[in-house]
Amino acid sequence: MKLAARVSQVKPSITLTISAKAKAMKADGIDVCSFSAGEPDFDTPDHIKAAVKQALDAGKTKYGPAAGEPLLRQAIAKKLQTENNLPYSAENVIVTNGGKHALYGLMMTLIEPGDEVIIPAPYWLSYPEMVTLAGGTPVFIDATAANHYKITPEQLRNAITEKTKLFVFNSPSNPTGMVYSPAEVAAIAQVLVEKQVLVVADEIYEKILYGTAEHCSIGSVSADIFPLTITCNGFAKAFSMTGWRLGYIAAPLELIKGMTTLQSHSTSNVCTFAQYGAIAALEGGLDCVQAMLTAFRKRREVMLGAVHALPQVSCPTPDGAFYLFVDIQAYGLDSLKFCQRLLHEQQVAAIPGVAFGNDYCIRLSYATDLETIEKGMTRLDKFLQTLSI
Ligand code: PMP
Ligand code: GLU
Repeated sequence: MKLAARVSQVKPSITLTISAKAKAMKADGIDVCSFSAGEPDFDTPDHIKAAVKQALDAGKTKYGPAAGEPLLRQAIAKKLQTENNLPYSAENVIVTNGGKHALYGLMMTLIEPGDEVIIPAPYWLSYPEMVTLAGGTPVFIDATAANHYKITPEQLRNAITEKTKLFVFNSPSNPTGMVYSPAEVAAIAQVLVEKQVLVVADEIYEKILYGTAEHCSIGSVSADIFPLTITCNGFAKAFSMTGWRLGYIAAPLELIKGMTTLQSHSTSNVCTFAQYGAIAALEGGLDCVQAMLTAFRKRREVMLGAVHALPQVSCPTPDGAFYLFVDIQAYGLDSLKFCQRLLHEQQVAAIPGVAFGNDYCIRLSYATDLETIEKGMTRLDKFLQTLSI
């Protein structure tokens, strides 16, 4: 069968492939330590599940509006106003099948052949693929370890051309966990305003912060940047709702209308009763998020301690998300080979940095229990001892 050319332009998601492989190995009785998935291991909080049970009993089982349940769109707008200082109203919001589909819908609505989309590298692996699928050209800016995997305003300014349509800004970052300070966000925003370039802020890890790190929504830093800003978020990470497939975009009305038209011919609406779980998540307070954060804090400390004790590897301390991006180049293997051997020889699943645009590193997710972290890091240490430098 001859498939459409667009499919052969992109690769399957490595994060999903390796996570699925680790799960399958576990199901086969193999003792795998999986640091692969960006998926919190906690159950979804009870009050969110209860709201869905109630919605089912109330008959919320029919098609709904393509842009989302009006009550959820209102709750999202209120959250963005109060928590993020972003003056969106409900009509500026579209509810999507996860943050991933929000970004996909955005690229399909906004990007055309010839358009350039600037993406700082290391990046979440789906950004460039989505741009390519939309016919655009991803343009990468290297964020170096020396600069804590953050780009500078000068790098951004130099990357902008007449063809630049959009800048992708992800803080806290997947895969590095880095968080831009409010001053750094403001400096980036200033360049975007000066050049009149749109920005999509992927804020899916906004709640997962450590120490004194602060999340700053780029759309909130000035009245000039707000109309250029598209804000993307979801429920998967903060509320441990990965399988629910609930995300959203807030943006100028014209864009939301375009995305809604596209959604009306593709997914219709996000699962109607699931959206009532999202309302409960937004209205139920952040205590459940705090409880998960307490666990993440401890896990981060243990995994970072173990990484720092490994010979010849380095990893800047991340301030957010639940990933460590560890430089393993001293061992002379490319990141894919390194991860393949680590899985085969020590049954530890990690994601090769090449998937994120950096072949010198591997990504370790600590969204798993402490016992797995301790066991897996001991195995990683053993693996390194078998490699000659
Ligand atoms: N953005 C980033 C940076 C991510 O890591 C992910 C993956 N979890 C998403 C968006 C999409 O998340 P979801 O589709 O599960 O809401
Ligand atoms: N975003 C998560 C990760 O990076 C989940 C997998 C995916 O959606 O790519 O592991």
